[in-house]
Amino acid sequence: MNNTDVVMVRDLRKSYGGRTVVDGLDLDVHAGEIVGLIGANGAGKTTTVECIQGLRRPDSGTLRVFGLDPATQADELRPMIGSQLQDSSLPDRLRVSEAVHLFGSGARGDGDHLLEEFGLAALRRSAFASLSGGERQRLFLVLALLNRPRLVVLDELTQGLDPSARRGVWSAVDRLRHDGVSVLLVTHELDEAEALCDRVVAMRAGRVLDSGTPADLVDRHARNAIVRFTLSESRRESLHLTDLRGVHEVLTDGDRVTIRGDRTSIAYVGEALVRSGSIPVDLAVDVPDLEDALLELLDRSSYEVTHLSN
Ligand code: ATP
Repeated sequence: MNNTDVVMVRDLRKSYGGRTVVDGLDLDVHAGEIVGLIGANGAGKTTTVECIQGLRRPDSGTLRVFGLDPATQADELRPMIGSQLQDSSLPDRLRVSEAVHLFGSGARGDGDHLLEEFGLAALRRSAFASLSGGERQRLFLVLALLNRPRLVVLDELTQGLDPSARRGVWSAVDRLRHDGVSVLLVTHELDEAEALCDRVVAMRAGRVLDSGTPADLVDRHARNAIVRFTLSESRRESLHLTDLRGVHEVLTDGDRVTIRGDRTSIAYVGEALVRSGSIPVDLAVDVPDLEDALLELLDRSSYEVTHLSN
């Protein structure tokens, strides 16, 4: 383990009642890095981050967080890790300021600053039960960031947040990176993973399907772009769409045209349209994103699993 390794997981295995839910998982998180765990429901993402935090004991494998073993050294690790877990709850009558006081051991100013930053300052005296879903979510984030943790574990970070709160939370998480804090993010929001993560790890059935930067995963698994427009057959003919570079398939339905090709094909289709003076006003382009990549990966892996079991 080198000194920039914050989390090192090798061959992690965990079963519940004889059913394997984490099946030989490797994972690394370096200092100042935001790593996202994405994938199918029940893939073992939460179980993995719970093992990393010492909340669950793995059946086997090697786990080190800041060089310590979470299964046996959780007490030493606790001050270094901040976590916002799925399905967290607090006593109904606990006020926001009391929660911050209860969870915070550092300078008081930190709590006040975080409440300001996450738009909760006006709710200091409100009881937990009276907070909306989004306000609770932001409070859990404040609690996770108290005490200046070196690793922050965020499970479903922005679930239930309005678009503006969501952007605010993204900027706050992005700022953590600049302070050298590492973040392990479990999310189904793939635009969030794409916006925030240095690397993502795609999981299914307890295994890593692939990992890399969001752009790497898109390049490897979601190559197709789609261009759509309306153009009469007579004007279309001169474009020789099927011969254009990068174009894989041209589908027509009357005057509607759908072109599937790699991402460079978009430019060649555009160029051909401009050159021929046919510029459709309804031209629309779908550029593949991380969601397309994950869907492709999950589809393929489910085919492989079905195929192998047949
Ligand atoms: P999701 O995206 O749906 O939140 P996940 O990838 O986080 O899923 P986990 O919560 O780690 O997946 O769950 C993995 C599997 O383990 C699931 O099938 C779940 O039902 C099962 N599981 C989780 N906790 C327990 C438990 N305490 N006892 C038995 N089974 C469990």
